[in-house]
Amino acid sequence: MEKAILYPFTDLARQQREGSLRIVRGDGVRVYDEDGRAYLEGTSGLWCVSLGFSENRLAGAADRQLRTLPYYQLFNQRTHGVAERLAERLLELVPAPLSAVFFGNSGSEANDTAVKLVWYYNNARGRPEKKKIIAHRLGYHGSTIATASLTGLSLNHTDFDLPLPWVRHVTCPHHYHNARPGEGEEEFARRLAGELDALIEAEGPETVAAFITEPVLGGGGVIVPPRGYFEEVQRVLHKHDVLLVADEVICGFGRTGAMFGSGTFGLRPDVMTFAKALSSAYLPISATVVSDEIAEAIVPRTALRGGLGHGFTTGGHPVCCAVALETLDIYAERDIVGHVREVAPVLQDGLRRFADHPLVGEVRGVGLIAGVELTEPGERLVRHAMRRGALLRPLGNTISFCPPLISTAGELTELVGIFGDALEDLSRELPNAVHP
Ligand code: PMP
Repeated sequence: MEKAILYPFTDLARQQREGSLRIVRGDGVRVYDEDGRAYLEGTSGLWCVSLGFSENRLAGAADRQLRTLPYYQLFNQRTHGVAERLAERLLELVPAPLSAVFFGNSGSEANDTAVKLVWYYNNARGRPEKKKIIAHRLGYHGSTIATASLTGLSLNHTDFDLPLPWVRHVTCPHHYHNARPGEGEEEFARRLAGELDALIEAEGPETVAAFITEPVLGGGGVIVPPRGYFEEVQRVLHKHDVLLVADEVICGFGRTGAMFGSGTFGLRPDVMTFAKALSSAYLPISATVVSDEIAEAIVPRTALRGGLGHGFTTGGHPVCCAVALETLDIYAERDIVGHVREVAPVLQDGLRRFADHPLVGEVRGVGLIAGVELTEPGERLVRHAMRRGALLRPLGNTISFCPPLISTAGELTELVGIFGDALEDLSRELPNAVHP
């Protein structure tokens, strides 16, 4: 059966040999396999199922919309109320000066759209040379040709003939790995900002359009940038008139203990992109939100060109919009940001208790996203955790944690406990590990 699908981000040969975990249903923060075994979903699927796996209100919202207007498009002077309401809600949430929304179906589409709108904007402003986009090594921004290029992971480039030539990558703000001996966080941040400045100077500021970053770099290994980093970076971007794109695909909607990761880290973006938790991933939807200035430059250009030549058939799909609206209602009603702040210490402090374990290199994270970097590849630990009833994801040596935002303190304690037990399983297995 495994042969019938080309599975994403999977060692396909190994999968055909070993098979797959087959999940058949979900309930709260747990999912169940075909044999009825329950697992705590420690990463919310792919960092996305913020409201857990059995939120009936989202099913109800989808059902009502399916029976009212199951599809309509936003092309060619058509609209529908549910997309308009969702745009309004998003614009109430995002910081000024963001003022206009473009809907897509995935995080990749949202970031692809961000690049295209930034280019369109620079063409409209009479700066056709200003097109290069800078991203981080180990940043993750998607899998389309453009966004895989922005992604700073060799797995996404090798054999795909990427990255495209207008992309530049800078050092990952990963203090644990990339700081020089004795270099403090602030000093490291200043050095990286200096590197960015030098790169823009070398390329020519008139050729650099934007810098894209996740507030916390998720897929690259849950990397939390050091204190002061984004302040320094924004100073450099401002100096060279380079736009800032905040990829909030993971961090958006409460994950970091603020509504957006940009709030947690002091980012003042010109463009923000959202997906995943926008609908708790119950249906695919994404949004690219741009500043007033970008929107205003784009509008007259579309008149000149006979329309904005960009769009997706199911972008702003009414059923997806209805589910997203219900999701945002639930976040507000349950004060999801307040809840994350309240329970985050259970995860963060709980995991930091393992910081001195001989198999642990570094523990990092904020809100309900965390990474424990081991001194060896994380895959074996994850297998132990799975046997003990928790699904975690290894990213190289790092075990990533991104539990549903609705997780209770008790569920987080259970998750941290299973991690600790799996760490002990691994210690016993490794002949040279020191037993604490
Ligand atoms: N940006 C970030 C930060 C992501 O983590 C992801 C997906 N993991 C994407 C973009 C791409 O989203 P999608 O897989 O929905 O295309």
